[in-house]
Amino acid sequence: MGESVQLIVPELGDFSDVDVIEVLVKPGDMVAVEEPLVTLETDKATMDVPASAAGKIVSVEVGVGDKVNAGDVVATLDTADEVDTLSTMVIEPEEQEKILAAVTAEQEKIVAAAAAQASRPETTHSADLVVIGAGPGGYTAAFRAADLGLDVILVERSERLGGVCLNVGCIPSKALLHAAKVIDEAEAMAAHGIGFGKPEIDAGALRAWKDKVVSRLTGGLAQLATQRKVRVINGTAKFASPRHLVLDDEETIGFDKCIIAAGSEPAMLPGVPNDPRIVDSTGALELEPIPARLLVVGGGIIGLEMACVYSALGSSICIVEMTDSLMPGTDPDLVRPFLKFVSNRYDRILLGTKVAGMQATTAAIDVLFEKGEEKSGESFDKVLISIGRRANGDKLAAAQAGVDVDAQGIIAVNKQMQTNVPHIFAIGDLAGGPMLAHKASHEAKVAAEVAAGQKSAFDARTIPSVAYTDPEIAWVGLTETQAKQEGIVYEKARFPWAASGRALSLGRDEGFTKLLFDKSSGRVLGGGIVGTNAGDLIAEIGLAVEMGADAADISLTVHPHPTLSETIMFAAETYEGTLTDLYLPKKKR
Ligand SMILES: Cc1cc2nc3c(=O)[nH]c(=O)nc-3n(C[C@H](O)[C@H](O)[C@H](O)COP(=O)(O)OP(=O)(O)OC[C@H]3O[C@@H](n4cnc5c(N)ncnc54)[C@H](O)[C@@H]3O)c2cc1C
Repeated sequence: MGESVQLIVPELGDFSDVDVIEVLVKPGDMVAVEEPLVTLETDKATMDVPASAAGKIVSVEVGVGDKVNAGDVVATLDTADEVDTLSTMVIEPEEQEKILAAVTAEQEKIVAAAAAQASRPETTHSADLVVIGAGPGGYTAAFRAADLGLDVILVERSERLGGVCLNVGCIPSKALLHAAKVIDEAEAMAAHGIGFGKPEIDAGALRAWKDKVVSRLTGGLAQLATQRKVRVINGTAKFASPRHLVLDDEETIGFDKCIIAAGSEPAMLPGVPNDPRIVDSTGALELEPIPARLLVVGGGIIGLEMACVYSALGSSICIVEMTDSLMPGTDPDLVRPFLKFVSNRYDRILLGTKVAGMQATTAAIDVLFEKGEEKSGESFDKVLISIGRRANGDKLAAAQAGVDVDAQGIIAVNKQMQTNVPHIFAIGDLAGGPMLAHKASHEAKVAAEVAAGQKSAFDARTIPSVAYTDPEIAWVGLTETQAKQEGIVYEKARFPWAASGRALSLGRDEGFTKLLFDKSSGRVLGGGIVGTNAGDLIAEIGLAVEMGADAADISLTVHPHPTLSETIMFAAETYEGTLTDLYLPKKKR
């Protein structure tokens, strides 16, 4: 008899209560060091627990379906002194049966795959994977899947790849916002002794520059598709069965797996006249023309970004928002400095007010506002309707494939981005959650990896939100609004930019940085920033939340001086009580 040794579950990182999905040993088995004892499965991966010593298994302490944590005993073993376990290994009849069963299962898999292949109907084109829509979700999924060895077709109804984000969303809007920022900053310098005079705006040249930025990016995508041998097919796809699509020109595409990434479209107000002066965000990006008076219907991020652009280009701005605040749902303290900043610049911000009617006349668009019982009318040269976006899930005849779509056009998915039909995935704007390009591209990678047979899951703790307004507003993770709604206990630290050397030197001290902490563990739960470049700065707080960092992790990380990024460190120091850049009375904890 040798020594009795307990074989335990090793460190599992952040995982706890991990499922045992297979037990590979039984009492009496001889095992060598590193030989797998049991297989565990998390959302992300499967892993074997290896034997830390060689010998004879005396007892097995876990079974399939049990949940284990680091340190739990898996089995006990009697160390086999001077026994060469390998040389004593014989294949028992029972073991032989196991091996045979495994081989049969593998053969069955191959037969099933061949059957799936065979069930693809005769089609004009076919591929391992078809992706519908070439936005940030679709092209990312197609490229990742091709990199993993799948034969991929990417179907896109527009001539250019890139979807809303590259063509009529994130990129063109940010190009115009950059132009607006330059105009506003040049004007602001007049107060500090440098005058540039009134800007001369050539809307055509500005539009051409914005279009060039877009073409460069979309052209780059076409090249990336070619390099990866992703076949791009131009057409509007609909499902004809669970295994094939039909295009508007009646060509057909068969597939083993499909990723739906058909995105979303602007929502329209019912009853709005059909007039070129009434536009959605796509029309607003055309700057055709720059109106004297612009009404923005909807005080969400897209409307407010376009208001910034048109205001800098010389339009007088009126914003009408049905709820009582701009950017509904965002922490009110983050919105306040923005509201203060634009209140002096914009003509009017009408909160708690509805558009009750709209009429197009030769001279203008006449709009009827309704605030409670009160009604008033006003005329505008252009109206931007930006009341949200609607998912395209219900425009694909998804029922032909058995895929469920809800009344909002959203397709429900699991963490692997699979719909209710497991070989069909959905990602991006039509898969629910925030309609953001970075969410779409992260989901895309998961869907492509799962489609390629890898273990992958979408389990981001946070998805950052940014309004690229002036000032910018950004937040990530837990918000105070959410914490209050859900009764989550948190602590807050806030650093005002009026005490930041960098903010002062930019002439923009209206912002602040706040961090929210878990009261018991001290970990960062979320944060928000309002001020110049908040959108870039928020990434550090996102990383802190993902890594489970606490205030010391941030405050002890040396940040470059003088930068706006220091404000995150200062907020952490405020929480820790180590801040020297401001005097804060000591808090009792
Ligand atoms: C003005 C504006 C500014 C924005 N700014 C930002 C920002 O700063 N940051 C951010 O993260 N997000 C921003 N967004 C949102 C962002 O653009 C979307 O979240 C993102 O594009 C969604 O990506 P997606 O791949 O799901 O779909 P989309 O980008 O909508 O792409 C879907 C693609 O599918 C194609 N398609 C649809 N149906 C079919 C079909 N049946 N057959 C073939 N092709 C089809 C469409 O033509 C489209 O190209 C902005 C949006 C707008 C409108």
